[in-house]
Amino acid sequence: MSVPETFEYKSIPVPLPWHSEQWQRLGLQLQAGRCPHALLLTGPEGLGKRQFAAAFTALALCEQPRAGQACGECKDCRLWMAGSHPDFLQVEPEKPGGPLKVEQIRQLGNFVSRTSGRGGARLVCLSPAEAMNVNAANALLKNLEEPAPSVIFVLITDAPTGLLPTIRSRCQSIAFPPPTVEVALQWLYSNGLEEPLAQRVLTLAGGAPLLAAELAEPKSREVREQFFKDLVAVAQGTASSVSTAGRWETPAEGVELVQLLHFWQHWLTQMVQIRSCDLSGDAQLMVLLQRLPGSSEQNLQPVFAFYDHLLQARKGLLGTANPNRRLLLEELFIRWAKLFA
Ligand SMILES: [Zn+2]
Repeated sequence: MSVPETFEYKSIPVPLPWHSEQWQRLGLQLQAGRCPHALLLTGPEGLGKRQFAAAFTALALCEQPRAGQACGECKDCRLWMAGSHPDFLQVEPEKPGGPLKVEQIRQLGNFVSRTSGRGGARLVCLSPAEAMNVNAANALLKNLEEPAPSVIFVLITDAPTGLLPTIRSRCQSIAFPPPTVEVALQWLYSNGLEEPLAQRVLTLAGGAPLLAAELAEPKSREVREQFFKDLVAVAQGTASSVSTAGRWETPAEGVELVQLLHFWQHWLTQMVQIRSCDLSGDAQLMVLLQRLPGSSEQNLQPVFAFYDHLLQARKGLLGTANPNRRLLLEELFIRWAKLFA
């Protein structure tokens, strides 16, 4: 018998150190009974937006918050932790990386229209919001346009441009920028990461601490290193663009294609920095640079153009257009090989 996937927490999640400003602002609004009926948490991946949302929904349901956070002991908190609070609904794709379907959003209607099970607020957490197609987004819009009393929607997105403007305009946006390097490193150290790995993964993660911690996992490192090796092989002409694209169409479990493209961009940026400032860098990157024709800065134009292609490809993957991943990768690898031809 298959058991429906549910979430369970041993304790109430707490906001992260770099969330304090957003947390305080929202906490005050909640306390004053002026919480907007729809929130949109935006910011790059790996900053803990989901953890923030979890802490916030628990707080909004808690009977007796303490020090601005859910108590973790009352009946509401216990129900929330068990994933069975009648006034809390989590809406996620059926499969990771899959779409949020219009049927899932329609089911929301039932939740929103009935009365509160515990007599307080009702919370809907929807993530990732950009996974809604147009039909699903329009179905949600109906709920946002005629908000049921005491319902708070919490939408989470890494890619707000992938959302309908009409949805964005109905929500109060809460931005999550990356913390300072100091704060991020401190957090990574307190989670058992050491130098120089902490610094390296933090750079690779664009300053996002949770993503950095993920990137430090051995499995993730292994995949990343293999991807880099394949990039070198394509650049050296020892592997074909098409077959390499086929291999990476579906990366290993827990690794998103969009993340791999992000690394690719990162390596490219480093290559440009090394080349234009005449630095010496990572030995593997130097191998690539040596194969890059020409040495003047002008010769970097094709590299910049390729960077833009990567950017567009990432946008495509993050948006709702659902591009053909195989074709997208083939095109990128072919262009990549041409850089070194
Ligand atoms: Zn409580």
